[in-house]
Amino acid sequence: MLATSQFETLSAQMRGRVVTSSDSDWDAARQVFNLATDLRPAAVALPQDVRDVVAAVEYARDNGLRVASQATGHNADAYGALEDTLLVDVRELQEASIDPRARRVRAGAGVKWGRIAPKLSEHGLAALHGSSPDVGVAGYSLGGGMGWLGRKHGLQANSVTAIELVTADGRAIRVDGEHETELFWALRGGNGNFGVVTALEFAVYPVEELYAGVMFFPFERAAEVLHAWTALVPTLPDEMMSWASLLQFPDAPFVPEPVRGGSFTVVHGAFLGSEAEGRDLLRPVRELSPAMDTFAMVPPAALGDMAMDPPDPLPFVTTTALLTDLPGVGVDELVFAVGPDSGTNLALVELRQLGGAFGRETPGAGARATLPGALSLIALGVREDDESEATARGYLESLDRAVRPYRVGDYANFVMEPTDTSRFFDADTWARLRRAKALYDPSDLFRGNHHIPPAE
Ligand SMILES: Cc1cc2nc3c(=O)[nH]c(=O)nc-3n(C[C@H](O)[C@H](O)[C@H](O)COP(=O)(O)OP(=O)(O)OC[C@H]3O[C@@H](n4cnc5c(N)ncnc54)[C@H](O)[C@@H]3O)c2cc1C
Repeated sequence: MLATSQFETLSAQMRGRVVTSSDSDWDAARQVFNLATDLRPAAVALPQDVRDVVAAVEYARDNGLRVASQATGHNADAYGALEDTLLVDVRELQEASIDPRARRVRAGAGVKWGRIAPKLSEHGLAALHGSSPDVGVAGYSLGGGMGWLGRKHGLQANSVTAIELVTADGRAIRVDGEHETELFWALRGGNGNFGVVTALEFAVYPVEELYAGVMFFPFERAAEVLHAWTALVPTLPDEMMSWASLLQFPDAPFVPEPVRGGSFTVVHGAFLGSEAEGRDLLRPVRELSPAMDTFAMVPPAALGDMAMDPPDPLPFVTTTALLTDLPGVGVDELVFAVGPDSGTNLALVELRQLGGAFGRETPGAGARATLPGALSLIALGVREDDESEATARGYLESLDRAVRPYRVGDYANFVMEPTDTSRFFDADTWARLRRAKALYDPSDLFRGNHHIPPAE
């Protein structure tokens, strides 16, 4: 390993800086969204421009280090040990521009969705972002991107039109559907395994307003609501994306006043259509008389924090799965495992409707073109101390057991622990990704949070 003082050579070459364990802001520089993750890279490089990224990549390569890229640290838990790795954190690459006529966005790799989505909304446009404005465009897009409008428009990775990156040989290049097409294919699903991305361009969609909101039911009605919701979702058109969740909110300022500190069963929806149609589609759930109902015609900016995700870092543990479906017996098992009578301490158990364009491969798509299954599940428990973490892990395991018969795969962006990356891809896609890795990064300089080794 290099002595921390040796990174001064790299620092001297950069407009930005390199933070090491000798610096007073070391802990701040290596902090990620999950405060339970103790990331310990050899050093953290904070480039301010593309030349800085080139310098960092070349320095790491020439000094026997590997390179991990990070934008916001929302999925850093999957890395595992990073002692031999220079973390290139692109948080300062904050360029962002919108071309409303062409319906295109260009975003520096450090940009978060919260900076883009409200501005797009002013132009009557929407991007395929997901539940949290705090998530980065880069990792979200490079791993797939399961957003509110995805049943109509697919994964965000399919809307990416160009990517700029620094490759293992230190070149700053631009790839798209006509240039370096194999690398462009591999990046859209292969995330940080092929280079440090410095900017992305992507298509956005005309949406003046949509019918969206949340219905809150008492937590105790989980079984009734989930039975109605799972029966309803297969009938919904691609214009509707609906989620159903069990939510136990903390008593924290980011939670809206009326639900702060409370436990609920909720149904979310975002519908690209009129209020009358939307109301009609959701009637079977609304007939259960929610205690609170926020559905209304809203601009797309309202999707930004509709999920009420935590805006600030916190310590947590998670589980996730993609499911073929969840028949009545599966709903009962899930509610038995983590429902209101289980004593659960999980903050979130969330089912998202998939299908529609999530399951249709479009011409020119990348390595993560589609997601299998009709439902996505993600659950999260907050760690307050060792005991609460152990309890949460117990409930996550019970949940895993309850849905095991319906498990069809996993969505890499939701998997927040070290794992065998091949499980996210079919055999042909996995072999092609490894060949692309051997072509563009034969010495395996770049390690994505979910690692893809080069083909032998
Ligand atoms: C609160 C919360 C809400 C979420 N909601 C959704 C959702 O609704 N839909 C959804 O699909 N996902 C969602 N996710 C998952 C999210 O998509 C992943 O965590 C994603 O990896 C985050 O990307 P990031 O850039 O913010 O995070 P980072 O941790 O910075 O990046 C994750 C990975 O992406 C790659 N990467 C990042 N930047 C670069 C770069 N510049 N160059 C090359 N590779 C790079 C690296 O492999 C990196 O390890 C959510 C996660 C959280 C914590």
